[in-house]
Amino acid sequence: MRSLDPYVPGEQPQDQQYVKLNTNESPYPPSPKVEQAIHNFDINTLRLYPDPESLELRSALATQHNLVAEQVFVGNGSDEVLAHCFQAFFQQSSALLFPDISYSFYPVYCALYKIEYQQIALDDSFEINIDDYRQAHGGIILPNPNAPTGIALPLDSIRRLLEASDSVVVIDEAYVDFGAESADSLIDRYDNLLVTQTFSKSRSLAGLRLGYALGHSDLIEALNRVKNSFNSYPIDRMASIAAIASVNDQSYIEACNQKVIDSRNRLSESLLQIGFKVFPSSSNFIFVEHKTAAAAELYQALKQRGILVRYFKSTRIDNCLRITVGTDEQCHQLVQALASILES
Ligand SMILES: *Cc1c(COP(=O)(O)O)cnc(C)c1O
Repeated sequence: MRSLDPYVPGEQPQDQQYVKLNTNESPYPPSPKVEQAIHNFDINTLRLYPDPESLELRSALATQHNLVAEQVFVGNGSDEVLAHCFQAFFQQSSALLFPDISYSFYPVYCALYKIEYQQIALDDSFEINIDDYRQAHGGIILPNPNAPTGIALPLDSIRRLLEASDSVVVIDEAYVDFGAESADSLIDRYDNLLVTQTFSKSRSLAGLRLGYALGHSDLIEALNRVKNSFNSYPIDRMASIAAIASVNDQSYIEACNQKVIDSRNRLSESLLQIGFKVFPSSSNFIFVEHKTAAAAELYQALKQRGILVRYFKSTRIDNCLRITVGTDEQCHQLVQALASILES
């Protein structure tokens, strides 16, 4: 364990109130139906263990995705679901493939479960080229849209990836609701496809800890074996009730997501005007690089002004910032701060 290098989530400093644009949370509250469900929750039921199968929640998710409950797995955040996927599917004799610029939790799971991996370089515009994945492998995982670039792959590329693989392919759709196309429609055709989603971003429920996987019932069965060898009850009663209420208020969620998309497009335009290159985002964050100013310095200067954004000190992206799309007011504050920093 001494040699492990754990994942470091975005900072949550407590010394003052920050405009928090560093962990891709939603700026909008959860659905009012979630509030109602928690308000009406019968505290007395907390005496009892929850349903270990989370059948009611899985059924609600199955209905929403045109699947059956046997094709749905739920976990305590999609990070937990991803951890189970790595353990269940990727301990193979060939390397797991994922992009060199991607979710930085993937190499951490590989180290934990001793999984061999190979990172496939994005091209110079930070795009994924599917043909680069046509080589011997023990599995593939990629976020769509990718993080931290925000760039989405079309469904046709995912289909070509699935055709070219005999192994399990995990598409991590943490940000799919902000403008990309879900691969959930391909599940009945490809038994090696697993799609993961989360309640943390588009459903404004990062504090509830709920994520899920969709795929062939055999893959879900494998995840259940891992889960039941680890924790029988990852979803508590209150989380389950709140999550079901959220699934049943799709129109509220879609309205919030549309607001985020509109703000994102306006924010991208404003940053373009003050000298930023903005990568084309289909997410609730944008990935930017300034023509002259260094990202590390912009990050520090913003923090001093009470605005948090994410800076990754890793190769190829150490001059970029990842900025969560906040409310229009928060975006305005960010643009004002950046403009004033760039002038000084
Ligand atoms: C946020 C995120 C997750 C994890 O979300 P949970 O809060 O654990 O559900 C998974 N993958 C990517 C790419 C993310 O950005």
